[in-house]
Amino acid sequence: MFGLKADWSADVFERYFTLGDYAGGEARWCPGCGDFAVLNTVHRVLRDEQMPPEKTVVVSGIGCSSRLPHYVGTYGLHGLHGRALPLANGVKARRPDLDVWVGTGDGDCFSIGAGPWIHSIRYNMDMVVLIFDNGIYGLTKKQTSPTTPAGERTNTHPTGAPLPALNPLTVTLGISNVSFVAQVPDWNPPLLYQAIKLAHQHRGTSFVRIIQRCPVFSDSFCKPFQEDPERLLLLTHEHGLPMDESVLRLFPEQRAHDPCNWLGAMEVARDQSRLPVGLLYHDPDAPVYEDLSAQGLNKTNEEKLAVIEKALDNFAI
Ligand code: SF4
Repeated sequence: MFGLKADWSADVFERYFTLGDYAGGEARWCPGCGDFAVLNTVHRVLRDEQMPPEKTVVVSGIGCSSRLPHYVGTYGLHGLHGRALPLANGVKARRPDLDVWVGTGDGDCFSIGAGPWIHSIRYNMDMVVLIFDNGIYGLTKKQTSPTTPAGERTNTHPTGAPLPALNPLTVTLGISNVSFVAQVPDWNPPLLYQAIKLAHQHRGTSFVRIIQRCPVFSDSFCKPFQEDPERLLLLTHEHGLPMDESVLRLFPEQRAHDPCNWLGAMEVARDQSRLPVGLLYHDPDAPVYEDLSAQGLNKTNEEKLAVIEKALDNFAI
């Protein structure tokens, strides 16, 4: 395969990956589930970035969204509940050459996985973290999750969720060494694509909260935003998500926001009156932990032994 450039010269690729190279098993989500949109976008970004499937790993925890590794034709790891991020960190620590993706949900990440969530953001290892947030535990059939809106009737709170919902954006922005925070709805394909692509190009942990439709158990989570676009606030900036006129005209409410501005990002994230859409924060210079953890990976046994001997010498008396 080859690609024509603007000057009509051609790049000849040794290998060229098509969408079919990233196809996994047949996705078994409910009809109308927003997870399909995310899956299709992940396939497209992998194809457009020409990521070799054998160099790509998709890691997940437990939940509907965590079936993602089964549906991407790369290496994958369907892990334990709440433990997608530490598993992904472990993969990246030992194999920094691999392209690591994480699929997790609001229950998986923000509840049982809350500890790993905080520390993974701080460690800032190079990976894309896709949060499929539908405001409910879907796999276990409508239990209250940390982002279930207060008053929402669920099977664990039949009279309505009693507490205000957790705000994943302010929490993530509040963690030391945070480097990339975006939020997009799954029903806007161009924005979803741009957010995931930019997240993939960022070196560090890219936190992308996807407002995800679950028409079976939490239809009301997305409906207000789908029916009234004035409840969404599009963040625009030359350093934000690329978007053209066809996207801009869908959002009557827009605000210029520089993603380098952490205080501005926190202000946007705290405002509960409208749902911010776009890139909230980006720091390309935040330290990346695998730069430290990868030290020594290529040393010979003799070199490793010498380091151990030297360390033991510190205890000699
Ligand atoms: Fe999707 Fe909801 Fe069905 Fe799970 S229960 S597959 S989140 S629609």
